[in-house]
Amino acid sequence: MNKNMEKVLKAFGERQLWDVINMTEAEDREGEHYFIFEDWEGLEKFIALAKEVLSMDPVAMEYEIEEKLKTNFVFSDEYTTCDDCGKVVRIIPDSYGWQPDFYTGNNGLVCGDCVRENWEYKEDYIQDKINNPEKAVNGVLSEDDLIAMGFEKVNADSYEAGWYEGQDDDPEVIYNELRGTHDEILFFVDRIGQFDTCFSVWAR
Ligand SMILES: [Zn+2]
Repeated sequence: MNKNMEKVLKAFGERQLWDVINMTEAEDREGEHYFIFEDWEGLEKFIALAKEVLSMDPVAMEYEIEEKLKTNFVFSDEYTTCDDCGKVVRIIPDSYGWQPDFYTGNNGLVCGDCVRENWEYKEDYIQDKINNPEKAVNGVLSEDDLIAMGFEKVNADSYEAGWYEGQDDDPEVIYNELRGTHDEILFFVDRIGQFDTCFSVWAR
């Protein structure tokens, strides 16, 4: 923890602001630091405190404080922490190709890294996706993970569903054709484009 951060957090504790400002302080798996706020009011109070404690210009910008503290100010509708490892997880898309690297299940919200490190999480993650054409493995697990879990790819080419001609593969139709041939059928998102999705079918 850097000196500026130490000072600000010390003042934060001394003034018992943990009871006033709803925020979480954590790092992600890459060691990047975050303050996750519930609302603007909390962020504004925190910024006012940081400016005072660090004797900064009262008109200093938010990013200048982030730089001083070597942190990122974010909100809880975009980021949260993993219920297992406690690391920061982004929970909403930041681009059209984005795939979630977490899932919410019996164990709360679990990040992709924790899932990939734990056999039970992996099985729990696919539980509601098995034999369900309305759901697919989307991020979190790779093809290699599925192979390690005993799955085999059923189709040679990727299916496409999208806006263009020829991109009309329907998971429901594919599932109805395949059902009964394997115990467990699983859809896997290969790629998400701006207007289409490529997917494949796996079985165990
Ligand atoms: Zn985790």
